[in-house]
Amino acid sequence: MQEPTAAETDAFERVPGPTAAPLLFLCDHASNAVPAAYGDLGLDHAQFARHIAWDIGAANLTRALAGTFAAPALLGKWSRLLIDLNRGPDDPTIVMKISDGALIPRNAAASVDDVAYRIARYHAPYHAAIKAAIDASLAAGVAPSLVSMHSFTPAWKGTPRPWHVGVLWDEDPRLAVPLIEAFRAEPGLVVGDNEPYHGRLEDDTMWTHGTMRGLPHALIEIRQDLIADHVGVARMLEIVARALRRALAQAGLKA
Ligand SMILES: [Zn+2]
Repeated sequence: MQEPTAAETDAFERVPGPTAAPLLFLCDHASNAVPAAYGDLGLDHAQFARHIAWDIGAANLTRALAGTFAAPALLGKWSRLLIDLNRGPDDPTIVMKISDGALIPRNAAASVDDVAYRIARYHAPYHAAIKAAIDASLAAGVAPSLVSMHSFTPAWKGTPRPWHVGVLWDEDPRLAVPLIEAFRAEPGLVVGDNEPYHGRLEDDTMWTHGTMRGLPHALIEIRQDLIADHVGVARMLEIVARALRRALAQAGLKA
């Protein structure tokens, strides 16, 4: 395997914030970039503009939220088609061979060593950074709430999705349930409770860093057409920030 260049050794982007911040924003699917050594993964370039490569708009919204709350954020630096940061290292879908009808040739042919390399180089450092940020907060006496930002495609396999926003959660209702209520208080907003996906996935980011560490957490999904440009991001920033503030207050958690 070719060694990555210096510019490619970073697995994630960090938005700095105070060590003892009560909030930590995460964005697993922030980027559609692929390290040069992997070229285009054998995939038609147009596919990289699609939701299969990244969560359209999620990175911009995450950075904006981090700014609004003066909180740190960690964002993945590479496409989910290279490695899916929201999967555990043992999940067979961590390197997707087919996504929404598109075969990814270089993934379909990936050796065990290639997958192990991608995990070590691009997946492990991101999760180590999340763990370190949480450890630093806890050492400073603050148990941070984790907010994971994603976006979803407006239609899946030809079926339109009705939700504007979804909150995904598993067994910890502390932040997720008040957040669903706060979103539902927004006029005209169609809110999914564990839609368009269920938040229960062992070894995913929220499970690893939220559930397993006993930290309040929620995963927010925004329909991607609502945050596809800066006007949309600004509009959703207001809504998400308002809902998050309400939910944190309701839950007795710090903002
Ligand atoms: Zn996502």
